[in-house]
Amino acid sequence: MSISHFEKVEKIARSLRNHEEGLLSLQKGGVSHMMPLARDDRRKDGKVDLRSLKEIISIDPIEMKCSVEPGVTFSQLVEETLKHRLIPKLVPELKTITVGGAVSGCSVESMSFRYGGFHDNALSYEVLTGNGLIVKCSPTENKEIFGMIHGSYGTLGILTRIDFPLVEAKPFVKMEYPKFDDFDSFYQAMLEACEKKEFDFIDGIIHDKKCFVLCLGKMVEEAPYTSKYDRTKVFYKSTKKRSQDYLALFDYFFRYDADCHWLSRKIPGLENPLIRLLFGKQLLSSTKLLEYSNRFAALLQKGRPDVVLDCFIPSSRFENFFRFYEEKFDYFPLWIVPYRIEEPYPFLADGFRSRIEDKLFIDCAIYGKPNNDPGVDYYTLLEEKLFELAGLKALIASNSYTEERFWEIYSRERYGMAKAMVDPTGRFRGIYEKVHCRG
Ligand SMILES: Cc1cc2nc3c(=O)[nH]c(=O)nc-3n(C[C@H](O)[C@H](O)[C@H](O)COP(=O)(O)OP(=O)(O)OC[C@H]3O[C@@H](n4cnc5c(N)ncnc54)[C@H](O)[C@@H]3O)c2cc1C
Repeated sequence: MSISHFEKVEKIARSLRNHEEGLLSLQKGGVSHMMPLARDDRRKDGKVDLRSLKEIISIDPIEMKCSVEPGVTFSQLVEETLKHRLIPKLVPELKTITVGGAVSGCSVESMSFRYGGFHDNALSYEVLTGNGLIVKCSPTENKEIFGMIHGSYGTLGILTRIDFPLVEAKPFVKMEYPKFDDFDSFYQAMLEACEKKEFDFIDGIIHDKKCFVLCLGKMVEEAPYTSKYDRTKVFYKSTKKRSQDYLALFDYFFRYDADCHWLSRKIPGLENPLIRLLFGKQLLSSTKLLEYSNRFAALLQKGRPDVVLDCFIPSSRFENFFRFYEEKFDYFPLWIVPYRIEEPYPFLADGFRSRIEDKLFIDCAIYGKPNNDPGVDYYTLLEEKLFELAGLKALIASNSYTEERFWEIYSRERYGMAKAMVDPTGRFRGIYEKVHCRG
């Protein structure tokens, strides 16, 4: 007999109530989409076992709402909601990103120009406090906790249930790929597309300094053909060659999964169609690629890890950022995703928030810039430039902020208040310690 959601959460709550001393980290199972680093202090922590929390609790096709446990992966979720011709408002591109990880960490994809991150659409959360109490929070109930869970990276209690809305879906996506040979016309066209809202999906790929591609998608009922990018063909390359394409909606969402965007390039030969045909089953998929890099994390000890990161820049300062990026980084492809926020997130410090006027941010996702130049740490360089532009870097990889600078960006006051409410005895690390303890 399967045990109910309540029984599962109660069991985890009991383990927290009985915990006597020492720091705790979350064991959610599956692969993590935080970049593995050579040193990670969390390996020494006691573990809270969340591996049972991976079921869809309910899908209500009439109210268009869904309720899930945090370990549900986006591929599992979309497979089920599509049976009702429904989808969440945001579907991260990698199949095994979980709903809990997307809310606590970050999420961004081609519907973000309309909906922001996954958490921006959440209706309510059930949270387990460090002392083993179950708390419900929403925009109207315990709203201080609700607002601070996103971006807390598991340091403010444990998400055990997430409720969120669904929207209507169609079975296929028609893609168009207008191309530009300069930044200005590409960026102008992207801003216009976001403004007009004629497309369901908007993002872009800058292949090199002379090849800028907008990726515009619309859900459609019928398709003359469909392409798949999970074996011999590589999605990001197709956008350079084609002007149009059709994908099944599920395949569109996970179009980057086989190559983990383009991190598969790091394995020699893996973009070769013959090698993909022969070894693709064993090697391709974000899960396998991340598992390999986890396994070999110890080898990273010798040098700094490559840059794998999302950077969020206020749209009015994006040109400034791009000029800096092309000069200092000069690393392509670069994934560009417009991301709408209603107002700056509460986890940001008031002084920092006051420097943000834009409602549209641009996410630049950098996948694999080598970081082994002895004279420059590209993570630190990004931190400095982003601070100048009131931009943000996701905390999913290496961080080198001083404590003083960190709390100029993030609100010590609101974080401290939320921490006192949900983890008063400090069972989980604080956010600064957690994101800096990883090497
Ligand atoms: C190579 C790479 C590619 C990526 N590509 C994309 C992409 O295409 N689209 C996109 O949207 N995002 C992408 N991301 C970002 C990714 O969505 C975030 O890193 C996300 O937080 C990962 O969630 P996860 O499910 O893998 O959880 P994990 O990586 O295991 O955890 C992420 C954080 O959430 C915390 N956490 C997990 N579960 C819970 C819980 N139940 N309660 C409280 N805290 C919890 C963990 O402690 C951790 O701090 C990418 C990241 C990487 C490294």
